[in-house]
Amino acid sequence: KRGLAVLTCMDSRIEPLAMLGLQPGDAKILRNAGARVTDDVLRTLVLARYLLGVHRAMVVAHTECRMSGITEAEVHAAISESGGPDTRSMSFHVATDQEASLRADVQRIRSWPYLQDLDAAGFRYDVGTGRLTRVC
Ligand code: ZN
Repeated sequence: KRGLAVLTCMDSRIEPLAMLGLQPGDAKILRNAGARVTDDVLRTLVLARYLLGVHRAMVVAHTECRMSGITEAEVHAAISESGGPDTRSMSFHVATDQEASLRADVQRIRSWPYLQDLDAAGFRYDVGTGRLTRVC
């Protein structure tokens, strides 16, 4: 069995193992807001690939994601309006076009020099139906 890593959103409607019909121990799970391939995700995948036997990575975006279809400015404004601080010095890696961001993120893994022998693919999970669709 080839080791699997799954990157998905922190959205609480997603149960990563159940989404894939897997059991604890079957996959490494990485999560962040929007399932974005950040530098930290790349660093973690390098460790997963060479120290934990991972050979495949799934990047799983989802429907109704709060981090999709909005702008950075709108997220900063929403945080401010909810009583939070001025976060404009941070980037939240929002996906204004979710599919384009997913394709770019998967390509970022595929072209990362330290991950040349990791198979990466992108999917969209429908939180309403539970259906998982391959995008790239
Ligand atoms: Zn989300």
